[in-house]
Amino acid sequence: MVFVRTTPPRPVDVTAVFPELAPLARPAIRLHPRPGSPSVGESSVGGPLLWPAEEPWPHCEASHLHVDSGFRQSPDDVRLMRRMQARWHGDHDGRGTTPEEAAIKERNATRLAERFAAGPPPAECPVPMVPVAQLYLRDIPLLRPPGQADLLQVLWCPYDHEPHHKPSTALFWRSAAEVVDILATPPEPYEVNDDGYLPEPCVLAPEAITEYPDSLDLSPQLRLMLEDWNRWQAAGAGVDSSYADWPRDFYDIHLADAPGWKAGGWPPWGRTDPNPRYCAVCEVQMVPLLTIASFEWDGGEGHSWAPCEEQAAANAAGHCCGQSPSRPTKVAVGSTDNMQIYICPASPEHPHTDLIQ
Ligand SMILES: [Zn+2]
Ligand SMILES: [Zn+2]
Repeated sequence: MVFVRTTPPRPVDVTAVFPELAPLARPAIRLHPRPGSPSVGESSVGGPLLWPAEEPWPHCEASHLHVDSGFRQSPDDVRLMRRMQARWHGDHDGRGTTPEEAAIKERNATRLAERFAAGPPPAECPVPMVPVAQLYLRDIPLLRPPGQADLLQVLWCPYDHEPHHKPSTALFWRSAAEVVDILATPPEPYEVNDDGYLPEPCVLAPEAITEYPDSLDLSPQLRLMLEDWNRWQAAGAGVDSSYADWPRDFYDIHLADAPGWKAGGWPPWGRTDPNPRYCAVCEVQMVPLLTIASFEWDGGEGHSWAPCEEQAAANAAGHCCGQSPSRPTKVAVGSTDNMQIYICPASPEHPHTDLIQ
């Protein structure tokens, strides 16, 4: 890994104030995806996969006919729009389209027309899935792959699927050494349901951290404990008195689980109360494998999770043209929420599940 991202120290050592939380500590690895040109031999978000040439590329067989035909774009057009937005960000007088961008637009339109002419309407055919993440065990040692596998590949179908309007996900575990001939040009879908469903290619800077549960995941007794301002004061934790009425918020914002893309750890909640997932095969409670996030850190006080190396950028005002440093992957799921992928702790080969939070 060529670059490093470091989570700033938490403002309070939470287990010094509340030793009761110590048994709930869980390891997580923040992925810190940032735009780059990952190779098939590297861990990545939205990057090329180490995929065997002889193995069929995964396609989504679900029906997509319910999908309204509104605002979809081809992956090539999404990439062009992002390129233009990045240019506008650097040159506010340069709005509009350059001759080169116009030529790309023209070429994209021609390519799309050819594909429409050659096959069935896009949403009706099996849809080629899109690479979301590729994680090597050497970078993410908390993965627990089956057998000799040392590589996890996550893809999704970039259409909304009922009942929760989210991409459908597929997981593959493999042994990297067994891939001899690599698929050079995987198929791409005609279009994506939402431009947030096409992850920008990113390299990773994995960072091991320790997380504690969102307060919604705690027992009522532990929640009450967090709400007792006297406990915070007695421990001399030095928490800003503006939190005197809401110490639990301080815990949730600064001390519990990290925002952003991560492996393992505790799940973020907020859209609903915690919603435990149970394995469809052996019925044990499933554990978070991967969090696919719309934002790497939250606005306002949530900046405390922005890496030390990027605090200045995070605090700078006025990120226009979709160039916010907190959205390096350009992924947006739900209403700028998180997609959590869960696996069975007894066997990673039991079917996974996912949900939006
Ligand atoms: Zn699909
Ligand atoms: Zn199971």
